Amino acid sequence: MATVRELLAEGLGRLRDSGSETARLDAELLLAHALDTERTAILAHPEAPVGDGAAERYRAGLERREAGEPVAYIRGVKEFHGLAFGVDPRAMIPRPETERLVDLAEAAIAERLLAAPRPASGPKLRVVDVGAGSGAVVIAVAAALRRRGMLDEVELLATDVSAEAISLATENAVGHAMADAIRFREVDLLPEWEVRRWDVVLANLPYVRSDAIASLPRATTFEPRLALDGGPDGLAVIRRLLDHLPDVLEPDGVALLEIGGDQEPEARALVGERLPGWSCALEHDLGGLPRVLVLRPPAAAA
Ligand code: GLN
Repeated sequence: MATVRELLAEGLGRLRDSGSETARLDAELLLAHALDTERTAILAHPEAPVGDGAAERYRAGLERREAGEPVAYIRGVKEFHGLAFGVDPRAMIPRPETERLVDLAEAAIAERLLAAPRPASGPKLRVVDVGAGSGAVVIAVAAALRRRGMLDEVELLATDVSAEAISLATENAVGHAMADAIRFREVDLLPEWEVRRWDVVLANLPYVRSDAIASLPRATTFEPRLALDGGPDGLAVIRRLLDHLPDVLEPDGVALLEIGGDQEPEARALVGERLPGWSCALEHDLGGLPRVLVLRPPAAAA
């Protein structure tokens, strides 16, 4: 029987040869997955023997990874903001930089609720996640609010144009006991019939320039192109949402929109053009890159 150490060495070699930039981590995650255990457990026991069935599952995973498939799709799970989400090709895999969007949304919601608590009898604070994908963002926000005892004061809607994404997001909501806390709607951006105004709009829309898609890591070719492709300048979908914002955002509301780390100048110019008079700030991610546009209507900006 092969040991953990031997199997990791085999995987490291194979995945390096196949061009993975994270070969060691990939091999560790795939072996832990095959053994139905944590990565830390295998690191702690390098001499442990691995049964033939697990070794076979591991090698099947290595083969898929060698073909470029993301580890998250092979495992079927991705950790995001301290929670585990089911992932598969129905939606894009949540990225670590998007955790910043969750933190900013939590802060914006908590600030509003602390200033004006919503009693059970009255209207709730209204929050929408536009282009929710796997649901990781809205569910992580909901989980943060539940920890603060604020979940009951908020109405949460998550939209996506992809029916497949909505089905995955709904499964993830059920998995996190959030099925009653979040409504899901298959719709392009925001429902026309949602005439009421939103207090907080958050969105991680596709923002990769169409001609840059080909140079993304190979693993992204397994993800829905719809979730990544932001049109010729990368801002086509975000531009459409900006044009909606004056109609849907409360005068003292805020919109938090994720953008690419190299898009600050274009994004600022776009806001200036489509939303004259609005305040526009940029929050950075943990890597120090501009990542989240923070937009407020003119009245509140003054
Ligand atoms: N950050 C993602 C990537 O570079 C893109 C996410 C998006 O378009 N919203 O793959």
